[in-house]
Amino acid sequence: MDLLESRIVIVGAGQAGARAAEALRAAGHRGAVTLIGDEPHPPYERPQLSKKMLLDQQADAAFIRTTQEWSDLGVTLRTGTRVVTIDLGQRKLALSGGDDVGFDRLLIATGTRPRRLAALEGATIAVHYLRGIDDALTLRPQLVEGHRVALVGGGVIGLEVAAAALSRGCKVTIIERADHLLPQIGSPSLSRFAHDMFVKRGAAVLCKAELSDHHASGLMLADGRVVDADVIVVGIGVEPAGELAQQIGLAGVQGIRVDARGATECDNIFAAGDVAEQWSACHDRWLRLENWANAQNQAIATARAMVGLDSRYEAPSWFWSDQFDANIQVVGHPACANEIIRGDAGSARFSAISVRDGEVVGAVSVNNAKDMAMLRRLVASRKKVDPAALANPNFDLKRALA
Ligand code: FAD
Ligand code: NAP
Repeated sequence: MDLLESRIVIVGAGQAGARAAEALRAAGHRGAVTLIGDEPHPPYERPQLSKKMLLDQQADAAFIRTTQEWSDLGVTLRTGTRVVTIDLGQRKLALSGGDDVGFDRLLIATGTRPRRLAALEGATIAVHYLRGIDDALTLRPQLVEGHRVALVGGGVIGLEVAAAALSRGCKVTIIERADHLLPQIGSPSLSRFAHDMFVKRGAAVLCKAELSDHHASGLMLADGRVVDADVIVVGIGVEPAGELAQQIGLAGVQGIRVDARGATECDNIFAAGDVAEQWSACHDRWLRLENWANAQNQAIATARAMVGLDSRYEAPSWFWSDQFDANIQVVGHPACANEIIRGDAGSARFSAISVRDGEVVGAVSVNNAKDMAMLRRLVASRKKVDPAALANPNFDLKRALA
């Protein structure tokens, strides 16, 4: 089969699916490309759903391309269409509308879905989850001055929504069951910084707080406290949308395992983005990453591999979060009680570096993109570093790469 003429179908029209479709054409692929998504919209950027879209009542979603532009690229975009089954033998997919579509090579880029809180089913106060445009448009008009907003989950969604709600004059309570905010990131100094920032901005931050039930006036915690709320937003993590891959024996609980080319164990089936789990050469373990840069860049590399180019994806995790005027960036996997601090957390400009066995395994920066540019390279390099040198604020991190 001439791979440049093959029929390629991409399931999931999110960040990964869209960038893969573009990358196929950029790589010279001439065959049919079909991009299938179950949302009613063309692919769009999710990051601004919890930032600009909530802060600005008028902000529109940022679409990656218009429908016309997809057509001009020769990509058949099918929105509002769910892929229901994969028939591996016949190489075809059954779609929600009843028809089917054949493929030579398939990319599964189905992403993740918010974990739901069973305890809040049946609540009389509206409970919001935030994943798509429609979620953001439903939540946005609720963030008005004086409204009491309760966030369940002190992760990235919880804190970005909390920042938007506080900026719009809401009264905010953050409920986190761990004993600190942003527990998934693993940086004690970032958690302290975030805690101080939100308290200063007027939020009530309840850590070690477990939700027990809904309540007529809001939420009930396990210790009996009631949190009054007009609006409830839940951000307690996500689950991979792996049910299609499960049908063909590919997806485990952690996602769909792929190699550095995005290939699964099944011939001609690839996966990329939030749903894919890849061996990390920077961390010596399997990882499923949930961030924009991974979705985009892994998908581009995978698309190139699908048409036979020599293409591998092996970058450490990197993401950003904007909360008020703090630009937070995280590389790798900070997991160190004794972080090396450069700068001053009080001044809202610092970096915190985690070193294990002489290597930088993760780092965060707050309003310090310059440090982060070097820290990304350091994590990827696995070079041995001198912790004392890194701690010196005058030490140029570039020298650690030499
Ligand atoms: P998704 O974007 O989830 O796309 C998958 C698509 O597949 C979805 O549209 C889904 O409905 C569809 N689908 C699933 N199953 C099927 C099926 N059977 N048939 C058809 N379609 C299907 N990351 C950062 O690095 N920085 C940020 O600041 C940031 N902010 C974020 C803010 C919000 C509110 C959210 C929700 C995420 C944010 N992220 C951020 C994470 C980032 O957006 C994701 O990592 C990225 O969107 C993942 O892309 P994906 O294509 O793998 O999955
Ligand atoms: P997350 O970052 O994993 O955070 C979930 C938080 O909820 C954690 O702090 C978790 O703490 C807590 N939690 C879990 N169960 C809880 C419970 N029952 N009660 C109270 N707290 C509970 O996930 P998220 O914030 O929901 O984000 C969802 C997805 O969106 C992720 O894929 C994320 O990458 C993406 N996103 C990214 C960005 C960004 O990168 N800037 C912004 C927004 C969204 P425990 O440790 O206790 O479980």
